[in-house]
Formats: sequence, structure tokens, C-alpha cells
Amino acid sequence: MAERKAARREVEVICKGCGARIRSSAGLDSLGFREITCPDCLQHRILPLKWGYRITYWVFLGLYVYGFVLAIQSGNHQRDILSGIGGVFILISLLLRAILKDFKILYQQRKTG
Ligand SMILES: [Zn+2]
Repeated sequence: MAERKAARREVEVICKGCGARIRSSAGLDSLGFREITCPDCLQHRILPLKWGYRITYWVFLGLYVYGFVLAIQSGNHQRDILSGIGGVFILISLLLRAILKDFKILYQQRKTG
């Protein structure tokens, strides 16, 4: 177990609180975000998504919207469309949550430099 942890690629970030260099091999959470806590000032920080994750989320969201538009155009019964939305609702809400969280982190980063 410890070996597997050590094999993870470390990231190096500069702490916004105290300027210390932090090396972290923190794992990704369920949405692909990496959380880092500075050992010096204990400031907690979440890194934005990696591009791979971000692109994947947007592609999925795009496919979903595309499928939705196709379903409407094909004249499916409204109830079928609604049940389709219900079926992937959890997935979509996860996608939106990840995308919004990513935006928030990027925005905060931009604001604080
Ligand atoms: Zn710090």
C-alpha cells in the first residue's frame, strides 16, 4: 500500500499563505480534484482539475446536451425524454458540480494571483 502511494506522481505548488514550496502526492478525490494542505501554515487548498478531467467532463456534458436536442427533434414522447433525463440526472449533476467547482477554483486563483 505504501509503495503504491509513493509511486504516485507528486505535484509541487507554492503555498498562497506562506510562500512555502509544498510537495504533495495527495490523491484525487472522486471528482478528480487534488487537495493539498500546507505543512507550515496549514492552509488548505484545492487545485483545479487537470486538463484531462476537464475535457472529459465537458465532452460528456456536450454529448448529453446533443442527445437531448436529438431526442426533442425526433419527436419522442415528452415522457420518454423526461425519464431519460431522470436516468442520467445523477451523472449530470456530478458533471455540473465538478465543472462549477473547477470554475470557482480557477476564479479564486486568478483573483489572488
Ligand atoms: Zn503555507
